[in-house]
Amino acid sequence: MPKVTIDGHTIEVPDGTTILQAARMIGGDVTPPAMCYYSKLKTSGGYCRTCIVKVTKGSEKDPRPMPKPVASCRTTVMDGMEVQNKTAPDLIDARNGVVEFLLINHPLDCPICDQAGECHLQDLSYENGLSKSRYEFKRREFEKIDIGDKIKLHMTRCILCYRCVKVAEQVCDTRVHGVMNRGDVAEISTYIEKAIDNDFSGNMIDVCPVGALTDRTFRFKSRVWFTKPMDAHRDCSKCCGKAVLYMSGNEVLRVSARKDMWGEVEDAAEGKPGWICNECRFEKKEVKDWTIEGPRAIDRHSVIAQNKYLDKKNLKIDVSNQKQIQEKAHN
Ligand code: SF4
Ligand code: SF4
Repeated sequence: MPKVTIDGHTIEVPDGTTILQAARMIGGDVTPPAMCYYSKLKTSGGYCRTCIVKVTKGSEKDPRPMPKPVASCRTTVMDGMEVQNKTAPDLIDARNGVVEFLLINHPLDCPICDQAGECHLQDLSYENGLSKSRYEFKRREFEKIDIGDKIKLHMTRCILCYRCVKVAEQVCDTRVHGVMNRGDVAEISTYIEKAIDNDFSGNMIDVCPVGALTDRTFRFKSRVWFTKPMDAHRDCSKCCGKAVLYMSGNEVLRVSARKDMWGEVEDAAEGKPGWICNECRFEKKEVKDWTIEGPRAIDRHSVIAQNKYLDKKNLKIDVSNQKQIQEKAHN
């Protein structure tokens, strides 16, 4: 098994592991950000360049450094490889440049955007962005599109990560949308409107790292940090039925799949991602539709994890006590 050292931490990984996967195994600051890679979606990654790292030693056999930053989601670990992420100032500078490009056309929508508080681009620009844009030209703009009656597409916020295209391709029965055109006129095709017929199209909302695809049943109902996320499940004939309910008092404002610390859908069973169907997501908005398991431990450093949210390490609530759980949901 090859050994790789990332920011001074050495780990042995199975053959074929990428640098990004190895960094996630180590965890913490060693892990580069990723806006397009999604481990549950085949062929994702390689589009956004935010996960670039500096390879200072190629391998034990060929110790030459790689001449330029490489996408860690697409670069396989070699035995003896040495990599820098947070510890290389010039790499951080390069990543800042990537973030500046991602934000060139991005609107200043955070105060009104439903994704705010759990947005990967918001976190990324906070950590790697400039406080002021240097871009002086007209930004590209698109009309908002209703993708059926449940999903809204704000193409202006899209970073063209292709994750939603891969959901349509790999999770839905048929793919009827994609990215049209190239360069600064590239956009998610409006053929996506047809995808709403599919039982699993709502998963595009969960994989979208920004507020480009939002849940029309939740839009503008609440800032996400004012809601109480609760783990819940139901018997569903179409999907795993395991979800997170975002509650306000006894009202279920939003239902999403369960996501891990990387913002990716958790496995419902060994190797089976817990994608949820549109019926669970959009139509089961009553507490009686669900068996509530307990407060969701949010394991991310974003706004959504702040204040009253439960830190996984400090989760002390007895989840067997349903009354206590309901009281928590009310507070
Ligand atoms: S997508 Fe993210 S960064 Fe963009 S406006 Fe919404 S919250 Fe802000
Ligand atoms: S709509 Fe969202 S998921 Fe789809 S390509 Fe754009 S940013 Fe990615």
